[in-house]
Amino acid sequence: MKKGKKLYEGKAKIIYATSEKNLVIQYFKDDATAFNNQKKSTIEGKGVLNNRISEHILSNLTEIGIENHLIKRLNMREQLVKFVDIIPIEFVVRNIATGSLTKRLGIEDGTILERPLIEYYLKDDKLGDPIISREHIIFFNWLNAIQIKTIDTNLYRMNDFLLGMFRAVGIKLVDFKVEFGLTHESGKTKIVLADEISPDTCRLWDSITEKKLDKDRFRKDLGDLIPAYTEVAKRLGILHEQSNVTAVNVTKLSSVKKKNK
Ligand code: UDP
Repeated sequence: MKKGKKLYEGKAKIIYATSEKNLVIQYFKDDATAFNNQKKSTIEGKGVLNNRISEHILSNLTEIGIENHLIKRLNMREQLVKFVDIIPIEFVVRNIATGSLTKRLGIEDGTILERPLIEYYLKDDKLGDPIISREHIIFFNWLNAIQIKTIDTNLYRMNDFLLGMFRAVGIKLVDFKVEFGLTHESGKTKIVLADEISPDTCRLWDSITEKKLDKDRFRKDLGDLIPAYTEVAKRLGILHEQSNVTAVNVTKLSSVKKKNK
């Protein structure tokens, strides 16, 4: 599989073409952004951790029949994934109220929601990713009613699975964001999950202390982002208990891998 030219560079990832037209390489950068790009930084080692955590979660989702774009992880920073036409909607599932939900509707931070709440946001940086309704999605032909229903069903299943997976390792899944895309294979169009699932895109709180183990450490200047992401990886069994993945270690690890390739 040959790596081709850069097709797209986003805030946290770069997509490269490959010699296979239906496959692309997804590269995880160390860049962190928040508040619609107003806050930016580079956090050494973040991409490596997100690549590993996302690979673990997406492979588990494949096993329970949630189709997604992941083919395989290639190295410390790259995954081979299916090429998709991304649907311009961010799907957010919430179990506990926090973040924009509390700000927008005045719901008290930390309120446990009686059942999972799905929200839709238009993926448009210029507009600041505005929240949209199901009616907007149908009216503007972003998806039809059947496609929304299929995605919602998948979101509830994913949420159930992820809640259990994280609960088993002492983590509360507060909320998460995912995107879906369309694949066109053998004349058939399919909707598949086409996003990373990592502490960058989920809110994860320690079950007992409620310590934030996610990107809110960056958004809120709490520091220690790499130790928090490493903790998530260790609890999921991806890294050895003993391994101490500091930013420096992660960098060393990636260069060792590169030399060995
Ligand atoms: N989220 C994301 N990318 C975005 C916006 C949100 O991954 O562009 C995730 C975020 O990490 C959280 C969930 O979606 O897990 C809900 O975020 P919220 O709407 O509360 O946004 P925020 O408070 O970050 O504005």
